[in-house]
Amino acid sequence: MSKSSTGSFLESVSRNFDKAARHTGLHKGLLAQIKACNSVYQMRFPVKIGSEYKVIEAYRVQHSHHRLPTKGGIRYSQKVEQDEVMALATLMTYKCAIVDVPFGGAKGGVKISPREYTTAQLQKITRRYTTELIRKNFIGPGIDVPAPDYGTGSREMAWILDTYMTFKGGEIDAAGCVTGKPVKLHGIQGRTEATGRGVFYGIREACSNAEDMKALGLTPGLAGKTMAIQGLGNVGYHTGLISQEEGDVKVVAVAEYEGAIYKEDGINIKKLAAHRKKTGSILNFPGAKNMEQRKQILELPVDILVPAALENQIRKDNARRVKAKIIAEAANGPVTADAEEILLKKGVMIIPDMYINAGGVTVSYFEWLKNLSHMRFGRMEKRFDQRTYTNIVETIERMTGKSVGAKEKEFLTRGADEIDLVRSGLEETMISAYSQIREIWKRRKAVEDLRSAAFVNALKKIGSDYENLGIFP
Ligand code: NAD
Repeated sequence: MSKSSTGSFLESVSRNFDKAARHTGLHKGLLAQIKACNSVYQMRFPVKIGSEYKVIEAYRVQHSHHRLPTKGGIRYSQKVEQDEVMALATLMTYKCAIVDVPFGGAKGGVKISPREYTTAQLQKITRRYTTELIRKNFIGPGIDVPAPDYGTGSREMAWILDTYMTFKGGEIDAAGCVTGKPVKLHGIQGRTEATGRGVFYGIREACSNAEDMKALGLTPGLAGKTMAIQGLGNVGYHTGLISQEEGDVKVVAVAEYEGAIYKEDGINIKKLAAHRKKTGSILNFPGAKNMEQRKQILELPVDILVPAALENQIRKDNARRVKAKIIAEAANGPVTADAEEILLKKGVMIIPDMYINAGGVTVSYFEWLKNLSHMRFGRMEKRFDQRTYTNIVETIERMTGKSVGAKEKEFLTRGADEIDLVRSGLEETMISAYSQIREIWKRRKAVEDLRSAAFVNALKKIGSDYENLGIFP
């Protein structure tokens, strides 16, 4: 991607901010403070790779200190540059506000292509990057808490935790210095699937409204709706899988690095992932057609398009050819501000990134809370609830003289495990956040689209935090 195209990601975020800011009634000085990136740490460090020394370029940006700690993922990609990390950190601030997660936004980036390094070399780079963050006080459970993003996962988070513990092992809350850790290493059940699951809940909410669906020429509900997914990584895979298994959505097309495939009667996502693991490619999946070019996925006539790879995918040059009725921005910034103008005129519903992919940070917040409480969710109440429900069922059995079967009884009396509570908390978060955004969109005529409504919601919440500090009028 050229510098100007990634540069335009930050520009797009800025334009979207300005478009919404005039509907907030906030003081212009306050808006300027909310918009600005508070701290940008740019680093270069050497790592010995084989017999060579590589100078690694990396960043950590803390967009807003209005709430601490700051929070946001770490991206490993050859395309990382300062503007991109700043745009991603900025989106994190608004994302946290939208889903009522009490953090400021941040993001990290390491300019490497992970495919070009061995596991041992990646570990070396990750540990050195973490050491740089520790040295400059850019990481800590009350300071700045990284998480996975494009090109990283629970493995990298484990290395970050271990490095942090090496320096700060005496800190009682040290485990909360990073989220997205393996479950066995202070992580939480349900974090890996969280962003995709959140995307599913968000799409389900949007599609449940009969009036909004009618405007798109669609019937309410998810069952039978067609979906195309760009990027079968963490977010794309779980969005596809959960939409298919729990929403009865038909995933007709998937694109990856190596190409794209189409299958009219639906692609089984689990089988496709197994096929890719075995053959190294999604292409030649049994029953599916290989598409000529991977980017054609963006132009298919589907109900729901899920860009789940990188930013700047739908631009001025291809927006007119997009035929999807709904675009769910699972990736950050996949639609540029120019493209959005075209798509909105065409009547496309864009469910914005800062809402739809907020499931990851929401469950990261639960993980951080678990780390600070030093106890897994459900430990205190599970058996108590189980006993209460059993008493209720047995009382009803006595009163009616009828008994329920053993299987039903087990189902009715079960106390919640950690995974049940995490999913429940995520579902509640995505439903209530959508309802707040939709209300702004529908109630205030001047707020024309869901992204502007999401921005207005975020800016008002952040504005009120600053006002409470007494800094602004
Ligand atoms: P990932 O590295 O797990 O997966 C991304 C996938 O996209 C990779 O498999 C890659 O090969 C593929 N890809 C890249 N360019 C492509 C292209 N042009 N066409 C088709 N496929 C392509 O990353 P991820 O964690 O799933 O993140 C994806 C997006 O979601 C990013 O924008 C990220 O910022 C955003 N996001 C991630 C999380 C999270 O929890 N991981 C949370 C919120 C937002």
